[in-house]
Amino acid sequence: MTCAICLEDDAVHACECSAFHVRCFTNLLLRFGRYQCPTCHSLYDRSMMCAASGLAYTRTLGIFGPTHGTTMVRKLEHATALAKAGQGPRAKELFQEIIDSSPNPEWVLAVSEVELARVLKDGGELAAARDLLEKLVPRLLREKARWAWHERIEASTLLGSIYVALKSWVDAEHWLFLSIDSHLANDTACPQKVVNCMEEIARFYRARGDNALACETYRVAVNILASDEADVARVALLNLKLANAEVLVGVRSEAAARFRTAIRCLRRRKHDADAREAMPGARRQLAELIKPAKRLRRPTSPEDV
Ligand SMILES: [Zn+2]
Ligand SMILES: [Zn+2]
Repeated sequence: MTCAICLEDDAVHACECSAFHVRCFTNLLLRFGRYQCPTCHSLYDRSMMCAASGLAYTRTLGIFGPTHGTTMVRKLEHATALAKAGQGPRAKELFQEIIDSSPNPEWVLAVSEVELARVLKDGGELAAARDLLEKLVPRLLREKARWAWHERIEASTLLGSIYVALKSWVDAEHWLFLSIDSHLANDTACPQKVVNCMEEIARFYRARGDNALACETYRVAVNILASDEADVARVALLNLKLANAEVLVGVRSEAAARFRTAIRCLRRRKHDADAREAMPGARRQLAELIKPAKRLRRPTSPEDV
């Protein structure tokens, strides 16, 4: 495979359209800080992001030293990439190191705390994640800078989802709706974040057994994402969740059509780890949905009895 930057061989695919060497991709990451390819719009491969952000962090550390603001930002990027690639324990260590070093700029601390809470939640440490965020939110409320407002919405969404997991419905409802109201009051809200919040609200309804509301929430989320997101794989993955919700409310033929369209789209996304992981489950659910009803048989031969 030819590297899109140095044009030499032995590169690996980072997205649907391009292959890179890790060192070449690191330069791209340092220069543009993108997580998504501007050409094919797919998210960059998680292991490529891990390797490149690790290299960027090591280089910055060597040049600026451990306490410099730029090093802190690179460390945060690397820890986030590790968390997204499922390397929770290593990500947790790095986030904790950042937090313990009282970093500058200040937003690095807040983002690290939110992302650490996410890793704790994903690892099942729900109470620790909740306590971290319950302490962080009042601090963000006192901070006047714009980043604090954005980070507070992020923390509220996560806190809501933690309360859903803890089955603490009143708290879950409080935080999730506080978060969606803040998003909707903001003209420049990021559609992807609005959709993430709506997905958590849909999970809340689902956990409470209100499948009709869950389904409706997923439907709105799909419409928002489809009108904004150029990455068709993200839209297809959300459509799978909507199709699941449709099965639960009994609209089976719509759900089957939705599964088919999403599977057709994801099948072509071989370099997208989320797409690859979602495929077997989606195929199984579709097969379950369209399998013919069991034939009613009467015993007609001695073997049938
Ligand atoms: Zn290269
Ligand atoms: Zn691409």
